[in-house]
Amino acid sequence: MTVAIEAREVVFSFGRTPALRSANLAVEAGEVLAVMGPSGSGKSTLLHCLAGILVPDSGEVWFDGTRVDKLSEERRSALRRSSFGFVFQFGQLVPELTVVENVALPLLLGGVKRAEALRRASGWFARLGLDGMEQRRSGELSGGQAQRVALARGLVAEPRVLFADEPTGALDSLTGEQVMDLLVGVAREQGTTVVLVTHEARVAAYADREVIVRDGRVIAPDRIAS
Ligand code: ADP
Repeated sequence: MTVAIEAREVVFSFGRTPALRSANLAVEAGEVLAVMGPSGSGKSTLLHCLAGILVPDSGEVWFDGTRVDKLSEERRSALRRSSFGFVFQFGQLVPELTVVENVALPLLLGGVKRAEALRRASGWFARLGLDGMEQRRSGELSGGQAQRVALARGLVAEPRVLFADEPTGALDSLTGEQVMDLLVGVAREQGTTVVLVTHEARVAAYADREVIVRDGRVIAPDRIAS
């Protein structure tokens, strides 16, 4: 097995509030991993530490042979642009941009020329079920449509790892299923590793494996009973 990304004994506190107490997690390359657990247990903090958004107080984060937590802010941000994609609970599309420009954003930030970036972004719309909506603003889309656009934005640059934090949390169950079908379908096709934070069992059911975060630590589901 090849490990794509790993947290080793990661500790992180927000001021005096401990969020991660010693979190260990290794995600295999190409794996779709669900990170479950109750609200406030540290799931998002773990995702942010793995993605180099937060720097642990102690412990290590590894990606592709690199100690992510030792990189400068600038190099972590370059790493996020080149290798990671993100989808959050509320799509967080840029309202001033058209939908196709939103999808193209990671490519533009990565230095792809505008025409080429828009061409590649447009290629997503049919499979998103959003044909003809390229020029709309995000305010003119339903919640499910906007989240599919956010998903395309997270995957357009073919990241090695996609971090998804409650990607269906704001959607009804049918729309949530469509988003998950798309997310997992594209990830498997592209060989993308997925770290999926969710507290919903029906979302976690899409994953190859589940871990549970409890009180700032990662536990395997089969250890819960003990
Ligand atoms: P989860 O994603 O499992 O709901 P979080 O990682 O968001 O949990 O939060 C873990 C702990 O850290 C909680 O006690 C939460 O209240 C606290 N926390 C999270 N974000 C912040 C923040 N920005 N400022 C202060 N405390 C925070």
